[in-house]
Amino acid sequence: MNTHTPTQTAPAPSLATRFLDADAMRTLVQRIGLPGCIAGVAARIEREFLRWGDYDKSARLACHSRDGVIELMPVADERLFAFKYVNGHPRNTAAGLPTVMAFGVLADVASGAPTLLAELTLATAIRTAAMSALAARTLARPGARTMALIGNGAQSEFQALALRDLLGVRTLRVFDTDTRATDKLVANLAGEGLAIQRSASAADAARDADIVTTCTADKTRATILTPDMLAPGQHLNAVGGDCPGKTELHPEVLRRASVFVEYEPQTRIEGDLQQMPADFPVTELWRVLAGERPGRQRDDEITVFDSVGFALEDLAALAYFDEQAARLGLGQPVDLVLRAEDPKDLFGSLRGAAARLAA
Ligand code: NAD
Repeated sequence: MNTHTPTQTAPAPSLATRFLDADAMRTLVQRIGLPGCIAGVAARIEREFLRWGDYDKSARLACHSRDGVIELMPVADERLFAFKYVNGHPRNTAAGLPTVMAFGVLADVASGAPTLLAELTLATAIRTAAMSALAARTLARPGARTMALIGNGAQSEFQALALRDLLGVRTLRVFDTDTRATDKLVANLAGEGLAIQRSASAADAARDADIVTTCTADKTRATILTPDMLAPGQHLNAVGGDCPGKTELHPEVLRRASVFVEYEPQTRIEGDLQQMPADFPVTELWRVLAGERPGRQRDDEITVFDSVGFALEDLAALAYFDEQAARLGLGQPVDLVLRAEDPKDLFGSLRGAAARLAA
């Protein structure tokens, strides 16, 4: 018998963590509908970006290997802590695995207790698309209707639908070096109200498009867009250059454009911006959203959103999906962390378990 007197007497708060596994996340997105999720996450990202100063921010921590990268992305305000685990392995698809896989956690800053553990692969595609649409809505010329979509892999349909719904894009010009990826995109987006034209090359797709989204995966200094492909007034949404040694834009493209970023210290390491000198001028997008800095200033200006993916976007997505899961009663409460009856007697909790096993 355990005769130990507990060292704490007040009733302890619950330590249950909501667990949204892959199936629960898919069900959640299906129940809300993808357009609703994209709009909801975009609104939440905008709200959190307008609270930029409230957040404790840092560039993500990356562990590089020959074929990929694994990253941890933490961020917190005074109430909520979040982190995402995400990888980027462009050769994975040849082995039947996704290039990008992710999961994330929300925790209560006051106690440190984890409140949500969620699959985030789907949510990453949703928040990346929502972020692209938010940037394009802020920076593209009004009336932009045609988008080139170069790279037709896992992220691509989400990008297309976000730009359709939040910006009004109606025509897509699509290109991928893998024609089967384009076949898949065309089939997936049939009936979605987009006129889809297949292009013979990236240059063909980009020609005179209002918006060019590059969403390719290759762990190399690729130059998907070169200066000769640019048209005055274009907005470029560069999604795939998001890691040291992994780019999509020729440096001259950046020189000819006004460049907007998420969190400057991180984009200087990971974005297409990695190719430019340390004093190359950029504007953090939150400043434009907050009305502190101008976005596009001329109709013929070329704007670039050098997207890499920032932790605050994932916090916004985690918070959004947590609220929606609570509303719809989805996800399982799990004991993610051990809860000893007496918090100072972790050792004794083993004895209790042993006794239960023996019984
Ligand atoms: P994916 O592997 O599913 O698709 C990438 C596609 O790019 C493939 O179909 C491939 O054939 C194509 N491609 C490669 N080189 C090309 C080229 N030169 N021209 C045309 N197409 C080419 O990957 P995904 O999940 O769709 O991710 C796309 C990229 O976006 C990756 O680089 C990923 O790291 C990045 N990403 C960025 C963010 C962000 O927040 N910025 C978020 C998620 C993913």
